[in-house]
Amino acid sequence: MMKIKPLIATLKPEGAGGDERPIYDLIIIGGGPAGLTAAIYAGRAALKTLALTGPDPGGQISITNIVENFPGFPEGISGVELAQRMQSQAARFGAQIVSDTATEVDFSTSPLVVRTYSATYRARTVITATGAVPRLLGVPGEAEFLGRGVSTCATCDGFFYQGKKVVVVGGGDSAIDEGLFLTKFASEVIVVHRRDQLRATKIYQERAFANPKMHFVWDSVVEEILGEQTVTGVRVRNVKTGETAVIEADGVFIYVGMKPGTELFAGQVELDEAGYVLAGQRQHTSVPGVFAAGDVQNPDFRQVVVAAGSGAVAAVEADRFLAEQAHTA
Ligand code: NAP
Repeated sequence: MMKIKPLIATLKPEGAGGDERPIYDLIIIGGGPAGLTAAIYAGRAALKTLALTGPDPGGQISITNIVENFPGFPEGISGVELAQRMQSQAARFGAQIVSDTATEVDFSTSPLVVRTYSATYRARTVITATGAVPRLLGVPGEAEFLGRGVSTCATCDGFFYQGKKVVVVGGGDSAIDEGLFLTKFASEVIVVHRRDQLRATKIYQERAFANPKMHFVWDSVVEEILGEQTVTGVRVRNVKTGETAVIEADGVFIYVGMKPGTELFAGQVELDEAGYVLAGQRQHTSVPGVFAAGDVQNPDFRQVVVAAGSGAVAAVEADRFLAEQAHTA
């Protein structure tokens, strides 16, 4: 799979322990559409901005084949290209983009502290934009065959299933969108869904039901992923009848929702019961000067355009916060 090229791998320490680094106006943690849009806005507002994107910039869109619903791209655009363009745009306006990973934060001090494996950074404001990652099923065989037949990324791994039979688990947009993508390669795509109705958007449902390679196993959950060296199938249980059956397959793609990337922020900002950062309408978190944008704070509208919009709001609010601080200082 094509990867997005980070602009800078890491910043060299500027003094012993890295404490003599400049204090940034804003540190953005996360390099998906929310973080990169925040970086564009912050750069244009002339804020001294550092964006820590982690090793794989782009977030979830970097593993999305085609983004069809981002305004301005009527023919669709590859997720990788969209992320690459956002990153270049942020760099053009002066944001420093570093592919370092935040490992620890301290939001109880002023300035705020963000640590990575190699450095300590300080800033007056922070935007948390670490997104969300695919959830797994937690069934026997899943961990064992991850990367050997079990995948959460059709865009990355679909190519390896030319002429093969695959199972897709889930009934949301991701399962159906990625299932449709898999029909380019696989001979058969069997969607195993725990209910008898899809959650996916109507247009995906229509495409899926019209595709002769897509088949559906309703009211069923995967209880075990079977295999030897690689995956050979799944054991499913019908939740209505209790009957179990084995579906033979060469690969299993799991799309059963996401979990937020907020381990870093536990005890630092308020999180909801599901672990998402609690952010208000203007992206403020429970800590003054700390904002949140994108999927890390919004489990309901996982759309690139929504993430980008919240990133823009967070950056504008960070700028306002800094202006108020300067005014009252
Ligand atoms: P989702 O909408 O939460 O769907 C998760 C699916 O997995 C649901 O069908 C759910 O079943 C099923 N599920 C959950 N836990 C399960 C379990 N333990 N065992 C079996 N099945 C389980 O997640 P998503 O599809 O990843 O989408 C996330 C968000 O991204 C959504 O807002 C979606 O609209 C967005 N998205 C948009 C696009 C697009 O617009 N192009 C593409 C991808 C994703 P139930 O239906 O019974 O709850």
